Amino acid sequence: MALLQISEPGQSPDPHQRRVVVGIDLGTTHSLVAAVRHGVAECLPDDAGRVILPSVVRYLPPTDGGASRQIGFEALASQLQDPANTVVSVKRLMGRLKADVAQVDQLPYTVLDRPGMATIQTAGGEKTPIDVSADILATLRYRAEDTFDDELFGAVITVPAYFDDAQRQATKDAAQLAGIHVMRLINEPTAAAIAYGLDNGSEGTYAVFDLGGGTFDISILKLTQGVFEVVATGGDSALGGDDYDRALLDWLMAQAGHPEWLKQASPLDRATLQQAARAMKEQLSAVPDDTTPVSRVVQTALGPLTWQANRVQLAAATQALTGRTLSAVRKALRDAQLDKSEVHGVVMVGGSTRMPTVRQAVADFFGQPLLTNLNPDEVVALGAAIQANQLAGNNPDGELLLLDVIPLSLGLETMGGLVERIVPRNTTIPAALAQDFTTYQDGQTALALHVVQGERDLVADCRSLARFELRGIPPMAAGAARIRVTFTIDADGLLGVSAREQGTGVEASITVKPAYGLSDEQIAQMLQDSFTTAQADMQARALVEARVDADRMLLATASALKADGDLLDDAERRAIDDCMAQLRQVVAESTVAADIEASTQALAKGTEAFAALRMNRGISRALSGRQIEAL
Ligand code: ADP
Ligand code: MG
Repeated sequence: MALLQISEPGQSPDPHQRRVVVGIDLGTTHSLVAAVRHGVAECLPDDAGRVILPSVVRYLPPTDGGASRQIGFEALASQLQDPANTVVSVKRLMGRLKADVAQVDQLPYTVLDRPGMATIQTAGGEKTPIDVSADILATLRYRAEDTFDDELFGAVITVPAYFDDAQRQATKDAAQLAGIHVMRLINEPTAAAIAYGLDNGSEGTYAVFDLGGGTFDISILKLTQGVFEVVATGGDSALGGDDYDRALLDWLMAQAGHPEWLKQASPLDRATLQQAARAMKEQLSAVPDDTTPVSRVVQTALGPLTWQANRVQLAAATQALTGRTLSAVRKALRDAQLDKSEVHGVVMVGGSTRMPTVRQAVADFFGQPLLTNLNPDEVVALGAAIQANQLAGNNPDGELLLLDVIPLSLGLETMGGLVERIVPRNTTIPAALAQDFTTYQDGQTALALHVVQGERDLVADCRSLARFELRGIPPMAAGAARIRVTFTIDADGLLGVSAREQGTGVEASITVKPAYGLSDEQIAQMLQDSFTTAQADMQARALVEARVDADRMLLATASALKADGDLLDDAERRAIDDCMAQLRQVVAESTVAADIEASTQALAKGTEAFAALRMNRGISRALSGRQIEAL
């Protein structure tokens, strides 16, 4: 990975180094991981091209050598065969006592009553919900690291809006166990709203309608100045797509003339029928109109059953369920003291909102078109990825403001008076973040560290917090030193900054209180400034970056000429000198980043042949060195 450079004291690295960050939707039935790539959020697929990971873990008896657990599709496939050791819907147990979990006895595995949190008895030993969630999270982490071929820097993980502190803490603990740095937990409905970019749009009230596999959540969000506030939540923790499957199945069995047979069917027959009903339900979402029938033949102990249904029939069979979702919506609106006409947008989330029947009912209720163009089972993960990208400073504009967090970004001055953000605004505290920097010049033995606060790209537009120096770096070639700068912020907002040269261990540090002396109004003003000047800042930043690049190129060329200039004939030498003179002039006179970049490119091009000659000389020197050694 490229290192950023810091100059000698008195001078001032390089623009952004991208950090691999992801958004994770840790769902009751499915989990997903997403990331922003080339400016677009997308879910990351597994080796088989599937983006969804079933939130299912099967624990096997300990053996020597063999796999001790199966995760995802593999676990799901063995669920019928080994339900007692296959943990599903673990999210319902997170941070809960056994007594607090609704319908705990209907889970197919044994839940034990333990102080602090219910646990699960498995062939692989007793597992806490945190252990199980950590196995799911770790699978997603490896997927991300394989995709980017890089270590994961951090993740934003989503939780239901109604999760309490214990449930949130349990989610964080699971992430930590999976080796994931949690940049922030955000509410699922907020993530969905972010995925639709509502945070960038007009202020107002939004409803997020989330109908998943086993749960229904309705959230009313209010957006003011880029901040989402959850004003009401509601729903039904025992209402979801599974219930639609069952209702359709009952109707189909009655149609087939066996209304009561299900009650006496074997568990395997029942599971087979349920899966077939679910498949039929999902197929019905895709047929072109409400009266096109879908048919299916299902093999059971009764012999083959021929099923047929269209969407009108599905709607009739599941009308009561859809009615229950709308009752919950009405209640949430009442809690928020809002009329449905005051809702500015309705976001549809969860696989079950693919059902046209459900969409129609919700659209009719609100009397407006719904936001449905993003994939409803991906939308939460996508929003989390966008948030993660913003928090990582990969996309500095348009961040959201949330509470219990660092109000303004903290960073270091780098080459050219630019700010490198280390701790992005809104990072929850306490926090510790580190980044590696390097030296700008050959033989540089000291580093000037200037700690600044603010959202602007130029040091001059930010607030200076502290300066200190790291001395005693052994002289090395520019870019060879590894200096790790760590920002730590304790729960009180106290900032410590330390710099350590990794080779020798020389170290320097300083402590500051970053928010000290800033009123809320001043913070708000600084944020406002950063929003309104983002465009200008971007141009200024591009110009400074272009100048830094040009200077570095000139410096590098000069030092190469000094060392190996004898490799060039007069004409070659003159051509390079001309390119350098041209670049110096453009740097001095132009304020257009693209012009400077073009001249820098020209110099790079003009020195290609020279670089090749130098490389050959380097190689022959290395070879002769080896010969001497060999003698
Ligand atoms: P959760 O948030 O609970 O993990 P999801 O949002 O992934 O769940 O939703 C899973 C549910 O979505 C299942 O009941 C599944 O049958 C349903 N579903 C998925 N695709 C479709 C579809 N095309 N039509 C109808 N329902 C669907
Ligand atoms: Mg969900």
